[in-house]
Amino acid sequence: MRWKRARKSQNVEDRRGQGPGRPRRGGGAMKVGGGAGIILLLLSLFLGQDLTGLVGGGGGGTANLPQLAPPGGSTSIRDDDEAGQFIASILGTTEDVWGKLFQNAGQQYQVPKLVLFNDGVNSACGFTSSAAGPFYCPGDSQVYIDLGFFRELQRMGAAGDFAQAYVLAHEVGHHVQNQLGVSMAVQRKQRTVPKVQANRLSVLTELQADCYAGVWAHHAHKQFQLLEPGDLEEGMNAAAKIGDDALMRSAGRRAHPDAFTHGSSEQRQTWLYKGLESGDPLVCDTFGGAV
Ligand SMILES: [Zn+2]
Repeated sequence: MRWKRARKSQNVEDRRGQGPGRPRRGGGAMKVGGGAGIILLLLSLFLGQDLTGLVGGGGGGTANLPQLAPPGGSTSIRDDDEAGQFIASILGTTEDVWGKLFQNAGQQYQVPKLVLFNDGVNSACGFTSSAAGPFYCPGDSQVYIDLGFFRELQRMGAAGDFAQAYVLAHEVGHHVQNQLGVSMAVQRKQRTVPKVQANRLSVLTELQADCYAGVWAHHAHKQFQLLEPGDLEEGMNAAAKIGDDALMRSAGRRAHPDAFTHGSSEQRQTWLYKGLESGDPLVCDTFGGAV
């Protein structure tokens, strides 16, 4: 990836080496692996009209979003910290890409903050160990990453900078879902259906975040010529390596679809590719009316 040409985001908070620290707010918020497509909400956004009143239950979904960070922000990534510079650059491209997509629809994208940490971290979602991997907390609208996860990714056979960027773009995809009200709608629906079906909705939410990661890559390349030969293959390979069936098999278990959390390798590749190819968030309706 030609990431060095990209603007670095100012919305990175570096908590590495600080220990878990204190929660920023009282816990209780659910951690989200995803958010998927209530078609009305998506249409609202991308048609620039508020159609969400047509959905019963109210509740919106854009509560809990932070104020836009002040220009100049608090990023303190050192110049010789290549991993930190990389992540700040990729985050910057997600801000530009989603900012423009929202703007085209007459909406304003509220940028998420990214927190770098080691070992474990406290968020509005409670305490989370690094072992859980990167995550998005809708309660404080922040993405949390221990960069050590990228070593783990490499160990799983998903090496390369684009594979890492895809992971971040997937988490930012959850933020987009939160902002669109998808996450909240999914949670509401999940409370009314049997467990197996609720789990399936979580998977669809995750697949939509993959699709949004593809949408990001499409536009990031268009705007910044970010991708180099081999990058797409890296992303598709990563999607396969972190598919639930691949993970279950590598742990010596049989692939069991009811226990999927993020979707199979094939599903993850399919949705990432749909977003990549089209650059259109509307193709990312993984739910197909299920929510
Ligand atoms: Zn996820």
